[in-house]
Amino acid sequence: MSLPAMRVVRPRTVEDAVRVLAAHGPEAMILAGGTDVVPNLQMRLFAPRVLLDIKGIGSLRGVVRQPDETIRVGALTTLTQLLATESLRLRYPVISSAVRSIAGPLQRNMGTLGGNLCLETRCRWYNQSDFWRKSLGGCLKKEGTICHVAPGGDRCWAVWSGDCAPALLTLDAEIEIAGPNGNRRLALSSFYRNDGINRIALGGDELLAAVVLPPRTAGWRGVYHKLRIRNSIDYPLAGVAVVMNVDEQGVCRDARVALGAVNPAPVLVKQAADWLIGKKYSPELVERLVHAAIQTGKPLTTSASSPVYRREMLRVFTRRALEEMWGMRPRTPNGND
Ligand SMILES: Cc1cc2nc3c(=O)[nH]c(=O)nc-3n(C[C@H](O)[C@H](O)[C@H](O)COP(=O)(O)OP(=O)(O)OC[C@H]3O[C@@H](n4cnc5c(N)ncnc54)[C@H](O)[C@@H]3O)c2cc1C
Repeated sequence: MSLPAMRVVRPRTVEDAVRVLAAHGPEAMILAGGTDVVPNLQMRLFAPRVLLDIKGIGSLRGVVRQPDETIRVGALTTLTQLLATESLRLRYPVISSAVRSIAGPLQRNMGTLGGNLCLETRCRWYNQSDFWRKSLGGCLKKEGTICHVAPGGDRCWAVWSGDCAPALLTLDAEIEIAGPNGNRRLALSSFYRNDGINRIALGGDELLAAVVLPPRTAGWRGVYHKLRIRNSIDYPLAGVAVVMNVDEQGVCRDARVALGAVNPAPVLVKQAADWLIGKKYSPELVERLVHAAIQTGKPLTTSASSPVYRREMLRVFTRRALEEMWGMRPRTPNGND
């Protein structure tokens, strides 16, 4: 499948990249590792006039511990580099757990953290060739007037299908966004819009520069469980990230639970911290949280896997992860482990 004709621009600085974005608006598209962009261009889901290849911008690379003890991870850090960085592996185990489950080694070598956090939402009616989509009258996210997932409504239900975002949400991560007026900081939880089309809060002249991890959530236990068609390579059909700070008496000092791949945005299960702080393990408490998780996740017919099965797996993964955090069951191997 060929690529559409377009001009490729390779800036060396963030300022130059932002200038190109400002000049070309929606006609420009950012390329990082290209593992999602290139297949989407081949499918003709986009036809930008300018492809902004940001891989040559050195300041977007690397993992640095800053004087205030936060860790700044540049947007161009590859998934393989995330796994190889000891300070992340030891201090934020939920990140490695999620990243290990992404795609296969080739995509992890090419794919970047920034690209992962800015992925296009996915849906079985959208991620198809032009011919396939148009034979069904098109899809609301691209050229149609009807969302085939919920034909009675007027919104797009394409799903947030990245694995890093739920893990980073549980760590209270922030992001650095570069734009014409310099950098701005945003909580990652405010970045996602729960809208299959306008998926992220990023202006047309902005790019994601870095992720910032706070010291407060460092050292917390964490795990990510994921459902996918093939354990060796696929995008998630449901994902659950859980982190917990547990003291020596087995009392939960703080915790977060986040879901991915079941809504148009990755989401935190709001009740987690309130219900878990100060509590020891009990099956009843776990079941209460499991219920909150399945109320939060809303899988629809966006993939070949049934919504009922995906919802059931949210239940299984949330229960399993909470039990693992409290040491009530051994770590379950997770796909690429
Ligand atoms: C076979 C296959 C399986 C996959 N499985 C998974 C999976 O299991 N889980 C998963 O999470 N992903 C999966 N992916 C998608 C992808 O490999 C990863 O998400 C990867 O991290 C994307 O990063 P990238 O640098 O390649 O992004 P790109 O493809 O370069 O970009 C992705 C999107 O982000 C935008 N973008 C990139 N960088 C920035 C930036 N700095 N600022 C603003 N916008 C930006 C691009 O414009 C584009 O919209 C899979 C891909 C393939 C081909």
